[in-house]
Amino acid sequence: MNAVDFHALANPGVAGLAPYQPGKPVEELERELGIADAVKLASNENPLGPPPAVRALLAEARIDPARYPDGNGFRLKRALAERLGIAMERITLGNGSNDVLDLVARVFLQPGRSAVFSEHAFAVYPIVTRAAGAEAIVTPARDYGHDLEAMRAAIRPDTRVVFLANPNNPTGTWLDAASLEAFLASVPPDVIVVLDEAYVEYVELPDYPDSLPWLDRHPNLVVTRTFSKVYGLAGLRVGYALSSAPVADLLNRVRQPFNVNALALEAAVLALEDEAHVRRSVALNREGMQFWERRFTEMGLSWIPSIGNFVTVDLGRPAAPVHQALLREGVIVRPVAAYGLPNHLRISIGLPEENARAAAALQKVLA
Ligand SMILES: *Cc1c(COP(=O)(O)O)cnc(C)c1O
Repeated sequence: MNAVDFHALANPGVAGLAPYQPGKPVEELERELGIADAVKLASNENPLGPPPAVRALLAEARIDPARYPDGNGFRLKRALAERLGIAMERITLGNGSNDVLDLVARVFLQPGRSAVFSEHAFAVYPIVTRAAGAEAIVTPARDYGHDLEAMRAAIRPDTRVVFLANPNNPTGTWLDAASLEAFLASVPPDVIVVLDEAYVEYVELPDYPDSLPWLDRHPNLVVTRTFSKVYGLAGLRVGYALSSAPVADLLNRVRQPFNVNALALEAAVLALEDEAHVRRSVALNREGMQFWERRFTEMGLSWIPSIGNFVTVDLGRPAAPVHQALLREGVIVRPVAAYGLPNHLRISIGLPEENARAAAALQKVLA
């Protein structure tokens, strides 16, 4: 019997993809090392977890799992619409914002079309682009960040989508309001610009853009956000896109009818209400970032300044062995060689005690 070569049967863009490498689960490392106190600073999760109302929802199991969720996500969309001052018909919900990125690719990309994104950009952009059979045009980074001039110049007649992350993961680099506004004005109106704002709630910079008013001026703009980061719901999977109504209509046509589950919808509504939890999380992140910058300085390491809830440090030597040594110390951080950064490690900002332990372990394994 001849074995079927399924690889050869796959769509060409799919066969060439490397699978996304998620952060190692804490339980897995604890099992391997026979310890119970591993520290995971690898996936940019909120170390405070979700707000108390979500913990109560989960403890009380208030959702009937036999019932389909609201396929339109009415209550969550209404809450977002009120909070953001945008019409409900311009919101598309996703099973995480990664789902929304995939919807954009499925609507606008196919063989013979292309998408533009930067070197070191978020790993999901190449995945959704190639999975849709489109060509990925990758522009060189400038100081680790997006080079908007190079990205504008890379747009071809067959380009349908540009992906921008502000800030970008894993570099933490950002684009200011003036540069982004000029970019949007320069992009042909028939090219979709995805502005991925997964970390927007963490940002405290004065020149960071408020992108929502741009949605009215640029019907080709799609802003994506998530409940996975500051809201502490990464495990429940909820994200959303804000766009013009015609674009939202198209995204909703390819969306699976019940892509966001009932528990996630309910938790997101509750999380959105707890502004104090967001403020606490942002303050903790600010202090944690200052701690890491201080410790990097003491260790003689340089890092890429970040406005997210993570920081990417330059070890000045291959990071893979350091990553392995940290695992043996019970500390999980993220290697970023797959992003073209083989000498860097990305560290998510944790609780003070987690940061202290991880920094001590890093100092030890570097010595
Ligand atoms: C974490 C992250 C997301 C969020 O993904 P979800 O699917 O919403 O969990 C999106 N974009 C970037 C750049 C991220 O780092």
